[in-house]
Amino acid sequence: MTAAALSPDEAGPTVCVGEILVEIVATTIGAGFREAQPLVGPYPSGAPAIFIDQCARMGGNAAMVGAVGDDDFGRVNVDRLERDGVDVSAIAVDPEFPTGSAFVRYRQDGSRDFVFNIKTSAASRFGWTDRVIDLIGRCGHLHVMGTALSMPSARDVIDRALAVVKARGGTFSFDPNVRKELKLDEAIERRFAALVDAADLLLPSGEELERAAGVDGEEAAIDRLLARGVKEIVLKRGADGATCFTADGFRFDSPAFVVPEVDPTGAGDCFGGAYLACRRLGMSPVEALTYGCAAGARNVTVRGPMEGAGTRDELDAFIAATPRRS
Ligand code: ATP
Ligand code: MG
Repeated sequence: MTAAALSPDEAGPTVCVGEILVEIVATTIGAGFREAQPLVGPYPSGAPAIFIDQCARMGGNAAMVGAVGDDDFGRVNVDRLERDGVDVSAIAVDPEFPTGSAFVRYRQDGSRDFVFNIKTSAASRFGWTDRVIDLIGRCGHLHVMGTALSMPSARDVIDRALAVVKARGGTFSFDPNVRKELKLDEAIERRFAALVDAADLLLPSGEELERAAGVDGEEAAIDRLLARGVKEIVLKRGADGATCFTADGFRFDSPAFVVPEVDPTGAGDCFGGAYLACRRLGMSPVEALTYGCAAGARNVTVRGPMEGAGTRDELDAFIAATPRRS
């Protein structure tokens, strides 16, 4: 069994680098924002922030690199992360640009309309500061989401951080988070492939697996990725659960919990944060999958992207009380 695929929690915090946002959610189902309507929020959000919040709530050593504005949307985020046990020392406060935001409204068919302010916000303006250098110097594991590749400042921080973390014996996980159809420009595509190659743990969902592998078919994609040196792959399958594949040929399918879906946003990030924390705390892939599936399922039962992230006790209670698909 691949107990040592990831550096242990004592080796230093899991550091997640990426966008920090508030999310404001329409309370009615329908198309977009072209008329006045009831909204609820601001909720702390941003896939990397959701991930690291769930990692900390699960009991993992966790820290965040990113930026917010000097405004209440920023304080909503930093206060939440800090409350949940995330080291926020390397979250910068931008004196000029506002905190990033996403307005989201669900359509009848479950698809979503968004209004984003990320590129022109503090969310995508952070750098290799002394505080980041200090944090990365004691980091045990780095986690990155594919969305960060669209932010030039994040790309620079990720390149430097990955080199430092690997040099000190730390490990790396990557959630590709890039739709299959999305064509990246050539330079970014090369970076994307390099992050896949560097990953000790890859956390794709659905067709992102084939996108990351560059081949069609689940089995072929898994074989290709393991041959490229990825040590552990966890494929997220939404309401169908998740599967773990490891380099020594181990495969385990974990059924999903049966829950009413209120707000699917953040399921994958909560899954990943819980799974990674469990693995670094020494649990087997099978145990970590149970907590990951529980964290994802619990989060979809609550409105707001990270409002349903659970502590270990909350997840234990959820696991004991919730039936699973067979
Ligand atoms: P996101 O939509 O946040 O990007 P994702 O596509 O990365 O999510 P999903 O596969 O949707 O990831 O969700 C991650 C995990 O959460 C799943 O593997 C599953 O265990 C759990 N999960 C997600 N949605 C549901 C659901 N409707 N019912 C039960 N469990 C769910
Ligand atoms: Mg995803």
